[in-house]
Amino acid sequence: MTISLRTTNIGKLREQEFDVLIVGGGINGAVSAAALAGRGVKVALIDRGDFASGVSSNSSNLAWGGIKYLESHEYLLVNKLCKSRNELMRAYPSTVKEIRFFTTIQKGFRFWSFFVFLGSVLYWLMGRFVTRPPRYLTARYIEQQEPEINTSKAAGGLEYSDCYLYDNDARFVFNFIRKSLNYGCVAANYVESQSAVFEGGQWRTQARDVLSGEVFQIRSRMLVNACGPYVDASNRDTGIRTDYHHVFSKGIHLIVDRITDNRRVLTFFASDGRLFFLIPMGPKTCIGTTDTQVQDPAVTVSNEDRDFVLSNANALLDLKRPLTRRDIIAERVGVRPLAIAGEGGTADWVQLSRKHVIEVHESRRHLSIFGGKLTDCLNVGDEVCEWAGKLGVDVPQPGNRWYGEPGADLRAEFMLQAQLMALDALTDPSSSEPLSERFWRRYGEAAFGLLERIREDSSCARLLINNAEYTRCEIELAARREMIVKLEDFMRRRSKIELVVRREDIVNAPGLREACDILFGSESQQKLADYLASLAPE
Ligand SMILES: Cc1cc2nc3c(=O)[nH]c(=O)nc-3n(C[C@H](O)[C@H](O)[C@H](O)COP(=O)(O)OP(=O)(O)OC[C@H]3O[C@@H](n4cnc5c(N)ncnc54)[C@H](O)[C@@H]3O)c2cc1C
Repeated sequence: MTISLRTTNIGKLREQEFDVLIVGGGINGAVSAAALAGRGVKVALIDRGDFASGVSSNSSNLAWGGIKYLESHEYLLVNKLCKSRNELMRAYPSTVKEIRFFTTIQKGFRFWSFFVFLGSVLYWLMGRFVTRPPRYLTARYIEQQEPEINTSKAAGGLEYSDCYLYDNDARFVFNFIRKSLNYGCVAANYVESQSAVFEGGQWRTQARDVLSGEVFQIRSRMLVNACGPYVDASNRDTGIRTDYHHVFSKGIHLIVDRITDNRRVLTFFASDGRLFFLIPMGPKTCIGTTDTQVQDPAVTVSNEDRDFVLSNANALLDLKRPLTRRDIIAERVGVRPLAIAGEGGTADWVQLSRKHVIEVHESRRHLSIFGGKLTDCLNVGDEVCEWAGKLGVDVPQPGNRWYGEPGADLRAEFMLQAQLMALDALTDPSSSEPLSERFWRRYGEAAFGLLERIREDSSCARLLINNAEYTRCEIELAARREMIVKLEDFMRRRSKIELVVRREDIVNAPGLREACDILFGSESQQKLADYLASLAPE
């Protein structure tokens, strides 16, 4: 039996001493790990679930400058988010893609439609003209371009640009985890932090392997709390008191069959006055979101949430048949962890800033990361690195650029090799893009290994599950490099199969068993049974 990367890393977590331990493998933990490891720091990361199993797999998948914060006059935040978005676009051209937001403004809306258009011009300016310019739309033009939109009450509209994460948020996060592993980070999923004490200049974190139940200690000089909505709970376990705390706003998305063939985001203002999106998600459409203050970060989708999203979509669209709960293919739910100074409680959370805050306990070398957005992730990584240096951690390669796709030369070489072996001729006809583009975006330099595998055996380019855009060789690669512990890790987070393929099609897919054999070998049957049980309707 081969030893898995996770088993090896858990051994290292027990034995070695680290400069920094990061607790939480959502976007904030993942970028902290990639930034520190990429600059030569000896770093470890644990997550009590799968990487990105929290909020970071339940977002709207947008890397955006936060146009809506112009309304609350948060110009500095918008300016900063636009800069962060632009840097992500530059660093990840295959993943963070510009997309048009096709916005309809209803008659009687709180602002005149041309005024909203002027706001988008300001937004474009703040985005330093990196995207295509906005333009004003008449109701008639909207009707012609997108007949699915109900224009009976439309005053006009506008089209502007922002970005979205092409694969999905969880894959984006995992690629930072993967990058950190390349730089020597010792990361393991399904390992929980139970408590930690700071003694003699060192943190001793009591960790539990969630799968085996074993408890062990991890030693580190510095501790980073990146537990997202559970930052406060984790600080209570470690006896850290902070000025900032979190309040939570719940948001859901529903995924349904594709509403429009045009690859753009349809944007409206919902009945609660908030922005409401229909976002392309592979071959499907993702609709959302909601904004409800909750006390407990452990949330599920309620019928009230579903009906809010469906009724708004039905009112704003002109569909041949209204959407019902039966049209829902998959659901996403999470809480936005919003940073607030003081004890939290009853803030006006819709108005609360989405800025991240890193609160530092210098004498105990402890950082807590509050709030934030996927869009701002590179700044979080840089700031955590700066703090590590200030708190006395040795950062041997402070100038190393720790993020970004491999350079244009390597991409050109990959594309040439793919072309010479006619890789794209093997692309499934239902796929939205050539195999070469997909491989490069998902795996970067590791995609060369996929070419090699297909040269050995061309059947490895075969799709395993229809409409899932995953080939056999990718699943082999995932089995080796992506620390997949449960089938759900692969179906929901490394890939987005579970979000875009109907449950009954997944269950009946002949390739599912084969995928499971590749991922889990002799444990395959049990893992498949566990997964199918988790898919069963409640
Ligand atoms: C509906 C919605 C839409 C959004 N849309 C966008 C968007 O379009 N663009 C954008 O930029 N942002 C968006 N956001 C915000 C963004 O998704 C979040 O701010 C971000 O994902 C939070 O990341 P995080 O790493 O702080 O938390 P998480 O992703 O929740 O990660 C925290 C991790 O800590 C782990 N953990 C907790 N306790 C422990 C413990 N004791 N031991 C070990 N591990 C532990 C959890 O398992 C979890 O994986 C959205 C948020 C929501 C809810």
